[in-house]
Amino acid sequence: MDAFGCALLPAFCTLCGSPLPQLSSVPICDACWIEFPVLSGPSCACCGDTLAAPALSSGPPVGISSAVHCRTCRLVPPPFVRAVAFGLYQDRMKAAIHALKYDRLLPAARPLGRMLAEAIAQLAAEAPAEMLVIPVPLHRSKYAQRGFNQARSLAAHALGFLRKTHPEWRLTLAPSTLMRLRATESQAGLTFRQRRLNVRGAFTVSDPSAVVSKHILVIDDIFTTGATARAAAQALVRAGAASVWVATLARARRVSNTGGFAVAYDETEDNPGLPPHERRPVRGDPGLPGNAPGATLQGASVFSSHGQPSF
Ligand SMILES: [Zn+2]
Ligand SMILES: [Zn+2]
Repeated sequence: MDAFGCALLPAFCTLCGSPLPQLSSVPICDACWIEFPVLSGPSCACCGDTLAAPALSSGPPVGISSAVHCRTCRLVPPPFVRAVAFGLYQDRMKAAIHALKYDRLLPAARPLGRMLAEAIAQLAAEAPAEMLVIPVPLHRSKYAQRGFNQARSLAAHALGFLRKTHPEWRLTLAPSTLMRLRATESQAGLTFRQRRLNVRGAFTVSDPSAVVSKHILVIDDIFTTGATARAAAQALVRAGAASVWVATLARARRVSNTGGFAVAYDETEDNPGLPPHERRPVRGDPGLPGNAPGATLQGASVFSSHGQPSF
């Protein structure tokens, strides 16, 4: 951002409205940057979702073992190895992502990219030493409307930071490898099953030879239900990828309590929030194979049978 760009921006913090001590290309005050909501507490070793205490002892893992996984990952193991995020998609994080995406506050991609880099760094000990980094693509109609893909911008900045902090890690940005076949505009009002079906098959790999036997890191700004990450990872695995990992800037919070859980996903264009009438408590684990006769591992039938908001 040059001086001309700075001059156009307000001298107040975009997020809290407090006056800024100086003009900045990113009008977000220091206090706001350090108050981004972070993730804490027990989480699923695969998708990173918050685990309620009951989930820790609700039966043996299915298909995956040895680590603590959420019910969804036990029921329907994701096509990715692990998903990590920097913080929660709420409060200042939500406001900053909205400013980037909808107000086109492009300079915010750099500090947010640093946060994304911290999320990716969580994978440093276990992820392969060489990976292709693939931002979740926008459909061309959405790209034409917005003019940029925030996931790609965040990924590019994150890799810039990681080249300094983890110079031995060979991460290569491959932004054109994955394509979005369908525009999945709004899924608000759809059931979980419909949402999963809506995004299923939405992605394809432009050149499968580019991903065969490669390890892939998928990047997105928000991880809401995981449906988008699963669909993207599925396309990559089908194209021959050796493994797929996922890193996002923020993830939606799942609200847990001892009686089950409610879902408090925020609405986004890709993973809209769950309408209140669909927020049903889950009693027991009727969807777990072995607990309910006839239950299967096929996600669609599991969710259509029980309508449980699981991811
Ligand atoms: Zn502020
Ligand atoms: Zn999980």
